[in-house]
Amino acid sequence: MSSTPSDSGRVLIVEDEPALLRALRIDLRARGYEVTTASAGREALVEAARRPPDAVLLDLGLPDLDGTDVIRQLRVWSAVPVIVLSGRAGSGDKIGALDAGADDYVTKPFSMDELVARLRALLRRDAHPSSRQVFSLGNCTIDLAARTVVRRSGPEVGAESEPVRLTKTEWRMLEMLLRSPGQLVPATRLLADLWGPAAVDSTHYLRFHMAGLRRKLEDDPPRPRHLLTEPGMGYRYQP
Ligand code: CA
Repeated sequence: MSSTPSDSGRVLIVEDEPALLRALRIDLRARGYEVTTASAGREALVEAARRPPDAVLLDLGLPDLDGTDVIRQLRVWSAVPVIVLSGRAGSGDKIGALDAGADDYVTKPFSMDELVARLRALLRRDAHPSSRQVFSLGNCTIDLAARTVVRRSGPEVGAESEPVRLTKTEWRMLEMLLRSPGQLVPATRLLADLWGPAAVDSTHYLRFHMAGLRRKLEDDPPRPRHLLTEPGMGYRYQP
């Protein structure tokens, strides 16, 4: 177990399985987080109001409320990052949780390292809304402020470079992904932002424009390394 100075903040763990709750509490405390806990949905809402956390880890299957309802009620007054701990096989519950306002999810059984990486990414996003403008993606350099992409023919110094043109929609989609490095961006959020709330079911729009982005930016478009699909959920920019 490694502990780094960047691990700080108050995390509310909501989990009704005592052994898992205990393991999470011990591990996160050892990494430097302040931890509060709840083993039911209503208790979680009371605790979140009493001592507002910096992030919430939320089991979906709770004895009193469904985790998705906990998120909905929390979202009435709080924008705190929520990571869902999903023990369910189907993706429907995860989609429901993301629609209700969850920010990310891990599927049980998960590795602590994966969970903590997701947690750090969300805490960082909240502490420092990204003002970064220049990103590199494979052999491409993307400047969001200047709205330019330059693609080099290879990684070596002195490689040839040429401009790449993106459509307006591709720019907006790419910017939303780059602004959340390592994080899932739900398809419903992309669709609502790009085409409005009426378009949240039109996932074929996203597939079409994502194919364009990969063709232009990925070194091997059929096997993307940076612009990843999370089937049934959305997309993730992997730096
Ligand atoms: Ca449970």
